Amino acid sequence: MKTAAIALAAGAVLTVGGCRAARPASRPAPAQAARSGPSTEEKVVITIVFDNNAGAAGLETAWGFGCVVRGPEKTILFDTGGDGRILLANMKKLGIAPADIDALVISHAHGDHTGGLAALLAARGGVPVYIPAGAGASLAEQIRSHGAEPIEADASADVCDGAKTTGTLGKGAIEEHGLCVKTAAGWVLITGCAHPGAAVMAAKATEVTAGALELVVGGFHMGSHSKAQIDAVIDEFEKLAVRRAAPCHCSGDNTRKQFQQRYGQRCSLVGVGAVFDFAGE
Ligand SMILES: [Zn+2]
Ligand SMILES: [Zn+2]
Repeated sequence: MKTAAIALAAGAVLTVGGCRAARPASRPAPAQAARSGPSTEEKVVITIVFDNNAGAAGLETAWGFGCVVRGPEKTILFDTGGDGRILLANMKKLGIAPADIDALVISHAHGDHTGGLAALLAARGGVPVYIPAGAGASLAEQIRSHGAEPIEADASADVCDGAKTTGTLGKGAIEEHGLCVKTAAGWVLITGCAHPGAAVMAAKATEVTAGALELVVGGFHMGSHSKAQIDAVIDEFEKLAVRRAAPCHCSGDNTRKQFQQRYGQRCSLVGVGAVFDFAGE
């Protein structure tokens, strides 16, 4: 099963298809000097539970995106995909119960990211739901109607220790925020559709985390970009020292191909069921 896994860094392993690779027996101790906060990093596992790209056998694909972050103080569901039944069925197959979820982050108000919200909140009410500022009253109302509390995160908001939003981008257009997660290998940025621009969001994440990004994963929304436009975004990623990229959801086939060409082994073309496993220290 090891062939299905790609080593990320410092013991982190990307597992596609639910096959987890063994952690390398010896790995370099991740640098501590540049980090703030607790000296011990928890193991962080990010699992894509909803995506239109095929992944692990037995999971349903449908247009949208959602992933679960485990390891920080809170277990976080980032986006809920476009369909509640599929979301809950995929989560169940991946061994994640609604009751495990402590907080929700909704990237933006589009239906392919909020479609599973009602089903999730019906199964797990009362959790805080972080939404971008200006995302619209109907989203906040929908959240309240299920007994949960919407939190408009205009500036970067701490969801818990080791997990914070980027702050709202795309104001006046499509308001959206991403989620930054601290791992032993570095910070990870998760994007929903990245309507404000994948590089714009990566730049904001770099600013709020005060460090380079180990990985950007999610929808990059570049399906109608020309080759030159995609190259320009990849140039920005390289300038920001984004070490790894995993474009999925609405990134576009050409975007995925070009990232793979430029990033090589540092690019992972993932789909539903992909597991990013960052070992703790
Ligand atoms: Zn969208
Ligand atoms: Zn989308």
